[in-house]
Amino acid sequence: MKEFQTKKKYGQNFLTDKNLLSAICSDADICKDDEVLEIGAGLGALTEILSNNAKKVVSFEIDKDLVEPLKAINLSNVEFIFDDILKWNNDEIEKKFVGDYKIVANLPYYITTPIIFKFLGKSKRIKSMTIMVQKEVALRMVAKKGDSDYGILSASIACLGEATTTRNVGRKMFSPPPKVDSAVVKIDINKPFELQEIDKQFEFIRKIFAMRRKTILNNLSMGYKINRQELQSVFNIDELSKRAEDFSTEEIINMYYRFSALMKK
Ligand code: SAM
Repeated sequence: MKEFQTKKKYGQNFLTDKNLLSAICSDADICKDDEVLEIGAGLGALTEILSNNAKKVVSFEIDKDLVEPLKAINLSNVEFIFDDILKWNNDEIEKKFVGDYKIVANLPYYITTPIIFKFLGKSKRIKSMTIMVQKEVALRMVAKKGDSDYGILSASIACLGEATTTRNVGRKMFSPPPKVDSAVVKIDINKPFELQEIDKQFEFIRKIFAMRRKTILNNLSMGYKINRQELQSVFNIDELSKRAEDFSTEEIINMYYRFSALMKK
């Protein structure tokens, strides 16, 4: 087969190092009972390792030029879907699995955040997300109160579970090498959450961090068109005069529930 010409527009930076691919699979804690959703099969290097370690793999790939090389690998427990995953309804994706499933992906960088938010908090059946992202995004994913990267992404992820950087991956490990270094982040979805609340919770987080230098009072009154008196019925003056970055994610979630009770009145 002639050498495959990678396409920048699809974020095609492929991995070939077998040790690294196996390490990603073990970071994701994949075992024989697992069903796995892979996003972006590429030439199938990660897919093959996942296939050897899991019960079933469903792997999306947008690039139709990869149909032939991927079909040629012949993996009996892998279903390839040659389409844009962002166009698929999550319920349709879930029908491919019998039980709970884990997401594993060397993500196309141009759509990292839309993919994270397509799945984050959207289903109780997703047990974890182990994803290769740009190092700068990894820092934002795992940041805690007090870190300069702490913000919307870290706080949103923390509503669902724990994010950990499992390894840093230099740009030279990819073919072709991207302009930046990467890291693998695992999100363990291990906190109780309510599906009906999560989008409103994310919206609250976006609003309180909207203008980072402004106080909670400013951001909430601007974001929700609500006045100080109403806010004071659920928040104390100290809370209202601080910034979102001064609160841990647990405190933010607690604030969200008080705010939501106010909005339901
Ligand atoms: N998993 C392979 C590897 O590790 O070598 C490829 C990873 S590469 C960074 C990302 C892959 O995602 C590319 O093959 C690209 O064509 C595919 N992709 C990009 N956008 C996609 C989308 N919206 N839906 C499905 N696949 C997509």
